[in-house]
Amino acid sequence: MEKLVLASNNEHKVIEYKLMLDKYEILTLKDIGFYEEIEENGQTFLENALIKARAVNKFLKEKGLDYDILADDSGLCVPSINNEPGIHSARYSGNHDAKACRDKLRKNLVGKDKKAFFVTVIVLYHMDGSYIYKEGKSYGTIIDEERGDTSFGYESIFLSDDLGKTYGEATREEKNQVSHRFRALEQLKNELESK
Ligand code: IMP
Repeated sequence: MEKLVLASNNEHKVIEYKLMLDKYEILTLKDIGFYEEIEENGQTFLENALIKARAVNKFLKEKGLDYDILADDSGLCVPSINNEPGIHSARYSGNHDAKACRDKLRKNLVGKDKKAFFVTVIVLYHMDGSYIYKEGKSYGTIIDEERGDTSFGYESIFLSDDLGKTYGEATREEKNQVSHRFRALEQLKNELESK
């Protein structure tokens, strides 16, 4: 089985990618012994995904390891408020508290259009520094009440157009058929298979 390093410590993402990439052996950052804090100071999702990929690439080189890296950056964008929280999704409230981020978003959306989309930019990064990247989006509406599981970001207030329920209410399998992450990954797989 081909090995792929996933440049993320987010347990939700790790579970989703492992389900979607069942033909690969996914190595997490813990698996390769990478414990550095990566400063995501890019201005775009792509820049941030590349920052993660390059940090892990440097680490692998230093260890004499040779793996492709999958890195992504994602977030929630609301067009009526200039696509906020966007690249700041994880720390929109000033810290990583997901509930505080959701509360701030709902407050900022009072009287505004609540249509929103999740976006993922995914990068497949090779040891020689070459890479390909793809973007995936999933559309929905921010709702006032929390519905379903509240443990991952904005899921419990994102009513998916595709599913007719929030991502918090959806099973992982349901979400994985329509999500921004799935759509970015599908495009990446299509490009790899067409080569
Ligand atoms: P990052 O891609 O790890 O930098 O995460 C960005 C942030 O966007 C997360 O911390 C969540 O707040 C939010 N986010 C991205 N994807 C999802 C998702 O699938 N569900 C819920 N929140 C998400």
